[in-house]
Amino acid sequence: MSVSRREFFRKSLAATGVGAGVVAATATKGTAAEQFAGYPDRYGVLVDLTLCTGCRTCEAACYAENHDKDSNRAVNNEYKGNLPKPEVPFDDVTVTHQRRRTSPGAYTVVNRYEGKGAVVQKEGIFKKLQCFHCNEPACASACLVGALRKTKEGAVVYDVDTCIGCRYCMTACPFYIPTYEYEKAFTPRVMKCTFCYHRLAEGRAPACVASCPFGVMTFGKRSELLEAAKERIARHPDRYVHHVYGEEEVGGTSWLYLSPVPFEEVGFQTNLPTVPLGEFTHTALSVVPMVVLLWPTLLGGLYALNRRRDDIAEQEKDTAVDAAVTDAVAQADAKAETKLAGALKKAEKDKEKAVKEAREEASKTTASEEESK
Ligand code: SF4
Ligand code: SF4
Ligand code: SF4
Repeated sequence: MSVSRREFFRKSLAATGVGAGVVAATATKGTAAEQFAGYPDRYGVLVDLTLCTGCRTCEAACYAENHDKDSNRAVNNEYKGNLPKPEVPFDDVTVTHQRRRTSPGAYTVVNRYEGKGAVVQKEGIFKKLQCFHCNEPACASACLVGALRKTKEGAVVYDVDTCIGCRYCMTACPFYIPTYEYEKAFTPRVMKCTFCYHRLAEGRAPACVASCPFGVMTFGKRSELLEAAKERIARHPDRYVHHVYGEEEVGGTSWLYLSPVPFEEVGFQTNLPTVPLGEFTHTALSVVPMVVLLWPTLLGGLYALNRRRDDIAEQEKDTAVDAAVTDAVAQADAKAETKLAGALKKAEKDKEKAVKEAREEASKTTASEEESK
């Protein structure tokens, strides 16, 4: 799909005519983080960028956890992924110098940023990227068939059997996370980090979190992680930017970040609203299910309209035929009458002629008899 996200939201708002209303509502609502009351015990992960060394162990652990074909339907039809072998072996850390994104072959990537202003990490800042597992995910709101959903554990999971491949989720995601298996002719899937839902459902930390040798990621209840993050900032005010990324962005996310440099310097989007983008996509796309629901009625209406048009045409045809027949009969009658009149006239003339001839013959006979006397 070539529609940019900006264009998508612009068109969505324009389509529903709520653009100005949404902006006004945003200003008076306060933060969405305060509004989201669902799943208070949901899990989260706190990622501390001051600790990451870019070793890619977490990438390797993600692959190890999610490449198994047999475990493709791990929990409640949510698949692990059947991830392909990596193009670059996980012990080659030079790839972290590229600006990699998540892909159909990688739920998570670690990239290096300069981070010149950092108190620590003179050699650069490494950022692990994966799905943020938003509190109120735009991807799920944009999905017409409910193939993506937020679970009570905090994971945003995907059901491949429900997905129709429209890829609206990719357009809606503000973090550019979901990818698509374009190269697969049959049963292509939307691919994104599952938060290791099969582990999460058992209260276990995701594989990448558990694997990190440097304790970069902390797994726990999101509410507690938020407190821990703020305490860490308070204890080391010179080490961290005084903001927890994901606390409020797009209504809050399950994955939270601490950074030693302004977040835009390590590739985070810092211009996102604090309300869930789902409010926009849902509002815009809510008309679509309505169309889907109304479709049978619309089809029925079209059928009835066509039927009525056909009936009228049929009636008009019958009327025209009747008129033509009546006309033809009338014409035939008129012709017949004319013919009859002609025939009668002719018969009269013939009769007069015959009478005249008979009279003439009779007078000739009488004259001849008189002569012979
Ligand atoms: S998060 Fe941990 S495992 Fe992943 S690259 Fe950073 S240090 Fe290595
Ligand atoms: S980061 Fe993107 S894909 Fe992940 S839950 Fe949020 S909107 Fe969905
Ligand atoms: S949570 Fe699981 S699926 Fe997501 S990046 Fe970590 S290991 Fe991969």
